[in-house]
Amino acid sequence: MKEDYYDILGIGKNASTAEIKKAYRKKAIEYHPDKNPGDAKAEEMFKKAAEAYEVLSDPNKKARYDQYGHAAFEGGGGFGGGGMNMDDIFSQFGDIFGGAFGGGGFSGFSGFGGGGQRRVKGSNLRIRVKLTLEEIANGVEKKIKVKRKIQAEGVTYQTCGTCGGRGQVSKITNTILGRMQTAATCSSCGGSGQVIDKKPSDADAQGLKVSEETVSINIPAGVEDGMQLKVPNKGNDAPGNGVPGDLLVAIETEEHDTLKREGDNLHFDLYISFSEAVLGTSKEIDAVGGKVRIKLEPGIQSGKILRLRGKGISSLNGYGSGDLLVHVNVWTPKELNKEQKDFFERMQNNDNFAPRPEKSDKSFFEKVKDMFS
Ligand SMILES: [Zn+2]
Repeated sequence: MKEDYYDILGIGKNASTAEIKKAYRKKAIEYHPDKNPGDAKAEEMFKKAAEAYEVLSDPNKKARYDQYGHAAFEGGGGFGGGGMNMDDIFSQFGDIFGGAFGGGGFSGFSGFGGGGQRRVKGSNLRIRVKLTLEEIANGVEKKIKVKRKIQAEGVTYQTCGTCGGRGQVSKITNTILGRMQTAATCSSCGGSGQVIDKKPSDADAQGLKVSEETVSINIPAGVEDGMQLKVPNKGNDAPGNGVPGDLLVAIETEEHDTLKREGDNLHFDLYISFSEAVLGTSKEIDAVGGKVRIKLEPGIQSGKILRLRGKGISSLNGYGSGDLLVHVNVWTPKELNKEQKDFFERMQNNDNFAPRPEKSDKSFFEKVKDMFS
């Protein structure tokens, strides 16, 4: 059962055009993918809201929806419905948000300046960037060579004859409600309203040519394997007067030799000798921000976990850092000479060598549970 469009936007059936617009704007900001990266549910809500707005903002569609409900749009294929993709939705922002977000927080809007005129967007480019744990811990600026299509010099355009420069053509579609006139992107110009007049030989059919550029990418601290960052307008140029696509950067992480990551925390396995455990010692550890010296008290138990606050990964949300957890392992010698063997045999009968665990010497698993609860 399809959800009611008014319910999706949280408005009543008598809502005015302004109220519908306001409600959609609120939902679109709340569920925008840039604000909810990787959140499939938010994306679903984002799409639903866009679909509801597409219908309720159009007086004709709204009238039909009010009369027939979702049945008004079934089988027709004339417009939107469940078929809206993200590009359709972003293009809709041009109408509703105008220049309000120009250059602002939402990169998805940036291609669609005010005025409500849809501008064709160039295709997105995708690259992978491999990062070390050290780079992730504190964030890093990467300069990456990218081959992107740019507008070739000397290309001239003329108004598209098919659509008269509107970028859209009318289409007659048969639906259960009869023949309907709907708008479709012009296939001659791809929606840009312009076609190439003259172009140099190094330009492709769209008037573009490949250029190698160095793009500077600011990678925030705390990113994880599989995340995708968007660098607005660093994708391929659009033909004609369109706007460039985006550069989508997939994050890959290199495994570290000694540190294991778990969320924003790091784990390090420290091995000390039997005598160091008995007598106490001081050790230097390679943390992500440089070396850290830690002191081990005499009588430290194997399995003890020392927490170095703030020595983990800086949080992606910008608040605080994880910890570095040092797991103490006492190394037991595997072979002994005669003298050493005699020594330990004497100690075996010594009361002081009998295990007497105290409450503070909890088992390894209990401690791990404590840390993550
Ligand atoms: Zn056209």
